[in-house]
Amino acid sequence: MEIENNFARPVIVLSACLDGEPVRYNGEILHNDLVEKLKESAEIIKVCPEVSIGLGVPRDPIKIYLENERYRIYQSKTGIDLTEKMEKFSVGFLDGLKDVDGFLLKGQSPSCGFSGTKIYSNKNARDIVKKGTGLFAQIVKEKFPDKPIEDELRLRDSEIKKHFLTRIFAISEMKSLERKIHSINQLIEFHTRYKYLLMLYSQSKLTQLGKIVAGYKKGNLSSTVSDYSRVFYTAFERKPGVKKQVNVIQHIYGYFKTGLNQGEKRHFLNLLKKYSEGKAQYDIVLEMVRNFALRFSTQYLLFQRYLNPYPEQLND
Ligand code: SF4
Repeated sequence: MEIENNFARPVIVLSACLDGEPVRYNGEILHNDLVEKLKESAEIIKVCPEVSIGLGVPRDPIKIYLENERYRIYQSKTGIDLTEKMEKFSVGFLDGLKDVDGFLLKGQSPSCGFSGTKIYSNKNARDIVKKGTGLFAQIVKEKFPDKPIEDELRLRDSEIKKHFLTRIFAISEMKSLERKIHSINQLIEFHTRYKYLLMLYSQSKLTQLGKIVAGYKKGNLSSTVSDYSRVFYTAFERKPGVKKQVNVIQHIYGYFKTGLNQGEKRHFLNLLKKYSEGKAQYDIVLEMVRNFALRFSTQYLLFQRYLNPYPEQLND
Protein backbone atom coordinates (compact mmCIF):
# COMPACT_ATOMS: atom_id res chain seq x y z
CA MET A 1 0.00 0.00 0.00
CA GLU A 2 1.40 3.38 -0.96
CA ILE A 3 0.60 6.48 1.06
CA GLU A 4 0.78 9.77 -0.76
CA ASN A 5 3.70 11.74 0.54
CA ASN A 6 3.26 15.29 -0.56
CA PHE A 7 5.42 17.86 1.14
CA ALA A 8 4.89 21.58 1.50
CA ARG A 9 7.69 23.54 -0.20
CA PRO A 10 9.78 25.31 2.43
CA VAL A 11 11.30 28.71 1.73
CA ILE A 12 15.05 28.64 2.33
CA VAL A 13 17.48 31.54 2.20
CA LEU A 14 20.73 30.34 0.65
CA SER A 15 24.23 31.78 0.39
CA ALA A 16 24.37 32.37 -3.35
CA CYS A 17 27.86 30.90 -3.78
CA LEU A 18 26.53 27.49 -2.69
CA ASP A 19 24.49 27.40 -5.85
CA GLY A 20 27.33 28.03 -8.26
CA GLU A 21 26.89 31.80 -8.42
CA PRO A 22 30.17 33.55 -9.34
CA VAL A 23 30.24 35.68 -6.19
CA ARG A 24 33.15 34.25 -4.17
CA TYR A 25 35.98 36.62 -3.26
CA ASN A 26 38.34 34.58 -5.45
CA GLY A 27 35.86 33.90 -8.26
CA GLU A 28 35.71 30.20 -7.38
CA ILE A 29 32.54 28.36 -8.43
CA LEU A 30 31.10 25.96 -5.86
CA HIS A 31 28.66 23.11 -6.31
CA ASN A 32 26.72 21.47 -3.56
CA ASP A 33 24.74 18.25 -4.07
CA LEU A 34 22.24 18.98 -1.31
CA VAL A 35 21.51 22.41 -2.76
CA GLU A 36 20.90 20.85 -6.17
CA LYS A 37 18.34 18.48 -4.65
CA LEU A 38 16.79 21.11 -2.42
CA LYS A 39 15.98 23.22 -5.46
CA GLU A 40 13.49 20.53 -6.50
CA SER A 41 11.63 20.53 -3.18
CA ALA A 42 12.03 24.06 -1.82
CA GLU A 43 11.73 27.70 -2.80
CA ILE A 44 15.22 29.17 -2.70
CA ILE A 45 16.05 32.82 -2.04
CA LYS A 46 19.70 33.45 -2.89
CA VAL A 47 21.77 36.18 -1.33
CA CYS A 48 25.41 37.21 -1.38
CA PRO A 49 25.82 39.82 1.37
CA GLU A 50 29.31 40.84 0.26
CA VAL A 51 28.34 41.49 -3.35
CA SER A 52 25.16 43.16 -2.09
CA ILE A 53 27.19 45.76 -0.20
CA GLY A 54 29.03 46.61 -3.39
CA LEU A 55 32.14 44.41 -3.25
CA GLY A 56 33.26 43.05 -6.60
CA VAL A 57 34.50 39.68 -7.82
CA PRO A 58 37.32 38.98 -7.36
CA ARG A 59 37.87 41.08 -4.26
CA ASP A 60 40.32 41.35 -1.43
CA PRO A 61 39.19 39.07 1.39
CA ILE A 62 37.58 40.51 4.48
CA LYS A 63 38.00 39.41 8.08
CA ILE A 64 35.81 39.56 11.15
CA TYR A 65 37.28 40.69 14.44
CA LEU A 66 36.20 41.57 17.96
CA GLU A 67 36.42 45.11 19.31
CA ASN A 68 34.90 46.08 22.66
CA GLU A 69 32.82 42.90 22.53
CA ARG A 70 31.38 43.94 19.19
CA TYR A 71 31.99 42.08 15.94
CA ARG A 72 33.28 44.14 13.03
CA ILE A 73 34.36 43.31 9.49
CA TYR A 74 37.32 44.81 7.77
CA GLN A 75 39.08 44.56 4.42
CA SER A 76 42.77 44.61 5.36
CA LYS A 77 44.21 45.43 1.93
CA THR A 78 42.03 48.48 1.33
CA GLY A 79 41.74 49.45 5.01
CA ILE A 80 37.97 49.76 4.66
CA ASP A 81 35.70 48.95 7.57
CA LEU A 82 32.52 47.39 6.19
CA THR A 83 30.66 46.76 9.45
CA GLU A 84 27.94 49.43 9.20
CA LYS A 85 27.33 48.69 5.51
CA MET A 86 26.95 44.98 6.20
CA GLU A 87 24.68 45.55 9.21
CA LYS A 88 22.47 47.93 7.25
CA PHE A 89 22.19 45.57 4.31
CA SER A 90 21.52 42.52 6.52
CA VAL A 91 18.78 44.18 8.56
CA GLY A 92 17.09 45.55 5.43
CA PHE A 93 17.29 42.27 3.55
CA LEU A 94 16.05 40.17 6.46
CA ASP A 95 13.26 42.60 7.33
CA GLY A 96 12.12 42.40 3.72
CA LEU A 97 11.65 38.63 3.78
CA LYS A 98 7.94 37.90 3.74
CA ASP A 99 8.13 34.22 4.31
CA VAL A 100 11.06 32.08 5.35
CA ASP A 101 11.43 28.65 6.93
CA GLY A 102 15.19 28.37 7.30
CA PHE A 103 18.69 29.36 6.23
CA LEU A 104 21.46 27.40 4.55
CA LEU A 105 24.64 29.45 4.67
CA LYS A 106 28.27 29.08 3.63
CA GLY A 107 30.45 27.88 6.47
CA GLN A 108 33.62 29.68 7.61
CA SER A 109 32.80 32.92 5.79
CA PRO A 110 33.29 36.21 7.70
CA SER A 111 29.84 37.18 6.45
CA CYS A 112 27.74 34.02 6.02
CA GLY A 113 29.56 31.49 8.18
CA PHE A 114 27.30 29.85 10.73
CA SER A 115 30.21 27.86 12.13
CA GLY A 116 33.98 27.73 11.86
CA THR A 117 34.50 31.39 10.95
CA LYS A 118 37.86 32.69 12.17
CA ILE A 119 37.36 35.61 14.55
CA TYR A 120 40.47 37.77 14.87
CA SER A 121 41.51 39.63 18.00
CA ASN A 122 41.72 42.98 16.16
CA LYS A 123 41.59 44.24 12.60
CA ASN A 124 45.31 43.89 12.00
CA ALA A 125 45.77 40.65 13.93
CA ARG A 126 46.86 37.37 12.42
CA ASP A 127 45.93 35.35 15.47
CA ILE A 128 42.36 34.21 15.99
CA VAL A 129 40.55 34.44 19.32
CA LYS A 130 38.03 31.78 18.45
CA LYS A 131 35.97 30.26 15.70
CA GLY A 132 32.40 31.49 15.46
CA THR A 133 29.80 33.06 13.22
CA GLY A 134 30.05 35.59 10.39
CA LEU A 135 28.40 39.01 10.68
CA PHE A 136 25.46 38.38 8.35
CA ALA A 137 24.83 35.00 10.02
CA GLN A 138 24.86 36.65 13.46
CA ILE A 139 22.13 39.04 12.38
CA VAL A 140 20.16 36.12 10.91
CA LYS A 141 20.39 34.39 14.29
CA GLU A 142 19.23 37.49 16.15
CA LYS A 143 16.29 38.12 13.82
CA PHE A 144 15.19 34.50 13.40
CA PRO A 145 16.01 32.75 16.68
CA ASP A 146 13.34 30.09 16.08
CA LYS A 147 14.28 29.16 12.52
CA PRO A 148 16.66 26.39 11.50
CA ILE A 149 20.02 27.85 10.41
CA GLU A 150 22.89 25.70 9.17
CA ASP A 151 25.88 25.81 6.93
CA GLU A 152 26.99 23.28 4.34
CA LEU A 153 29.98 22.16 6.43
CA ARG A 154 27.88 21.15 9.42
CA LEU A 155 25.41 19.43 7.12
CA ARG A 156 28.10 16.92 6.18
CA ASP A 157 27.15 15.29 9.49
CA SER A 158 24.16 13.12 8.56
CA GLU A 159 22.46 13.57 11.96
CA ILE A 160 22.66 17.37 11.77
CA LYS A 161 21.40 17.23 8.18
CA LYS A 162 18.41 15.05 9.13
CA HIS A 163 17.55 17.33 12.01
CA PHE A 164 17.80 20.45 9.82
CA LEU A 165 15.63 19.01 7.05
CA THR A 166 13.10 17.58 9.49
CA ARG A 167 12.66 20.98 11.15
CA ILE A 168 12.41 22.90 7.90
CA PHE A 169 9.82 20.60 6.37
CA ALA A 170 7.79 20.37 9.58
CA ILE A 171 7.67 24.18 9.93
CA SER A 172 6.72 24.52 6.29
CA GLU A 173 3.92 21.95 6.53
CA MET A 174 2.51 23.65 9.61
CA LYS A 175 2.54 27.00 7.82
CA SER A 176 0.86 25.48 4.79
CA LEU A 177 -1.87 24.06 7.03
CA GLU A 178 -2.37 27.43 8.71
CA ARG A 179 -2.99 28.99 5.31
CA LYS A 180 -5.58 26.50 4.10
CA ILE A 181 -7.28 25.07 7.19
CA HIS A 182 -11.08 25.23 7.27
CA SER A 183 -11.98 22.35 9.56
CA ILE A 184 -10.71 20.92 12.87
CA ASN A 185 -10.45 17.53 11.15
CA GLN A 186 -7.48 18.83 9.19
CA LEU A 187 -5.70 19.72 12.41
CA ILE A 188 -6.56 16.33 13.91
CA GLU A 189 -5.14 14.61 10.82
CA PHE A 190 -2.01 16.77 10.99
CA HIS A 191 -1.51 16.03 14.68
CA THR A 192 -2.02 12.31 14.06
CA ARG A 193 0.55 12.37 11.27
CA TYR A 194 3.15 14.05 13.48
CA LYS A 195 2.51 11.92 16.56
CA TYR A 196 5.71 9.87 16.50
CA LEU A 197 7.91 12.66 15.20
CA LEU A 198 6.69 14.84 18.06
CA MET A 199 7.20 11.98 20.50
CA LEU A 200 10.78 11.74 19.25
CA TYR A 201 11.49 15.43 19.72
CA SER A 202 9.46 16.25 22.79
CA GLN A 203 6.98 14.09 24.68
CA SER A 204 5.83 17.11 26.69
CA LYS A 205 5.08 19.15 23.54
CA LEU A 206 3.23 16.17 22.07
CA THR A 207 1.03 16.07 25.17
CA GLN A 208 0.55 19.84 25.15
CA LEU A 209 -0.44 19.81 21.48
CA GLY A 210 -2.82 16.91 22.05
CA LYS A 211 -4.57 18.94 24.77
CA ILE A 212 -4.90 21.94 22.44
CA VAL A 213 -6.56 19.77 19.78
CA ALA A 214 -8.81 18.08 22.36
CA GLY A 215 -9.81 21.49 23.78
CA TYR A 216 -11.25 22.69 20.47
CA LYS A 217 -14.74 24.16 20.72
CA LYS A 218 -16.93 25.00 17.78
CA GLY A 219 -16.22 28.46 16.48
CA ASN A 220 -12.66 28.78 17.80
CA LEU A 221 -10.77 27.10 14.95
CA SER A 222 -8.41 30.00 14.28
CA SER A 223 -7.41 30.45 17.94
CA THR A 224 -6.94 26.67 18.29
CA VAL A 225 -4.70 26.58 15.22
CA SER A 226 -2.74 29.57 16.40
CA ASP A 227 -2.21 28.03 19.89
CA TYR A 228 -1.23 24.77 18.23
CA SER A 229 1.23 26.27 15.74
CA ARG A 230 2.91 28.39 18.42
CA VAL A 231 3.83 25.27 20.37
CA PHE A 232 4.51 23.18 17.27
CA TYR A 233 7.12 25.62 15.94
CA THR A 234 9.15 25.22 19.12
CA ALA A 235 8.87 21.43 19.31
CA PHE A 236 11.77 20.61 16.97
CA GLU A 237 14.50 22.81 18.37
CA ARG A 238 16.69 20.17 19.99
CA LYS A 239 18.17 17.32 18.02
CA PRO A 240 16.94 14.07 19.59
CA GLY A 241 19.42 11.51 20.88
CA VAL A 242 19.62 7.73 20.48
CA LYS A 243 17.58 7.05 23.63
CA LYS A 244 14.59 8.93 22.25
CA GLN A 245 14.87 7.20 18.88
CA VAL A 246 14.88 3.80 20.59
CA ASN A 247 11.85 4.78 22.66
CA VAL A 248 9.83 5.72 19.57
CA ILE A 249 10.85 2.60 17.67
CA GLN A 250 9.82 0.45 20.64
CA HIS A 251 6.38 2.11 20.55
CA ILE A 252 6.09 1.51 16.82
CA TYR A 253 7.29 -2.08 17.16
CA GLY A 254 4.07 -2.78 19.05
CA TYR A 255 2.11 -2.37 15.80
CA PHE A 256 3.68 -5.27 13.99
CA LYS A 257 5.36 -7.49 16.55
CA THR A 258 2.50 -10.01 16.64
CA GLY A 259 2.92 -10.57 12.88
CA LEU A 260 6.61 -11.38 13.12
CA ASN A 261 8.03 -14.83 13.66
CA GLN A 262 10.49 -15.52 16.50
CA GLY A 263 13.53 -15.20 14.23
CA GLU A 264 12.40 -11.85 12.84
CA LYS A 265 11.66 -10.52 16.33
CA ARG A 266 15.06 -11.63 17.58
CA HIS A 267 16.79 -10.11 14.58
CA PHE A 268 14.96 -6.79 14.87
CA LEU A 269 15.39 -6.42 18.63
CA ASN A 270 19.04 -7.37 18.35
CA LEU A 271 19.53 -4.69 15.70
CA LEU A 272 17.74 -2.14 17.88
CA LYS A 273 20.01 -3.06 20.79
CA LYS A 274 23.09 -2.67 18.58
CA TYR A 275 21.82 0.72 17.48
CA SER A 276 21.34 1.80 21.11
CA GLU A 277 24.96 0.76 21.76
CA GLY A 278 26.26 2.68 18.77
CA LYS A 279 27.08 -0.50 16.84
CA ALA A 280 24.42 -0.24 14.11
CA GLN A 281 23.17 2.62 12.03
CA TYR A 282 19.80 4.24 12.58
CA ASP A 283 18.99 4.16 8.85
CA ILE A 284 19.10 0.36 8.83
CA VAL A 285 16.71 0.12 11.79
CA LEU A 286 14.36 2.64 10.22
CA GLU A 287 14.39 0.78 6.91
CA MET A 288 13.31 -2.39 8.71
CA VAL A 289 10.49 -0.49 10.41
CA ARG A 290 9.39 0.85 7.02
CA ASN A 291 9.48 -2.65 5.53
CA PHE A 292 7.38 -4.07 8.34
CA ALA A 293 4.88 -1.22 8.05
CA LEU A 294 4.57 -1.94 4.31
CA ARG A 295 4.39 -5.69 4.78
CA PHE A 296 1.60 -5.49 7.33
CA SER A 297 -0.07 -2.58 5.53
CA THR A 298 0.02 -0.58 8.73
CA GLN A 299 -1.59 2.49 7.23
CA TYR A 300 -1.37 4.46 10.45
CA LEU A 301 2.41 4.03 10.48
CA LEU A 302 2.95 4.56 6.77
CA PHE A 303 1.16 7.84 7.19
CA GLN A 304 3.51 8.98 9.97
CA ARG A 305 5.93 11.83 9.27
CA TYR A 306 8.35 9.98 11.55
CA LEU A 307 8.96 7.51 8.71
CA ASN A 308 9.13 10.21 6.01
CA PRO A 309 9.90 13.60 7.52
CA TYR A 310 11.13 15.12 4.23
CA PRO A 311 11.47 14.10 0.57
CA GLU A 312 13.46 10.88 0.25
CA GLN A 313 15.81 12.13 -2.47
CA LEU A 314 17.34 14.57 0.05
CA ASN A 315 18.83 11.59 1.88
CA ASP A 316 21.00 10.36 -0.99
S1 SF4 B 1 29.92 33.15 1.64
FE1 SF4 B 1 28.28 34.64 1.53
S2 SF4 B 1 29.32 36.57 1.21
FE2 SF4 B 1 30.78 34.98 0.70
S3 SF4 B 1 30.53 34.62 -1.47
FE3 SF4 B 1 29.21 33.17 -0.45
S4 SF4 B 1 27.26 34.22 -0.41
FE4 SF4 B 1 28.79 35.78 -0.81
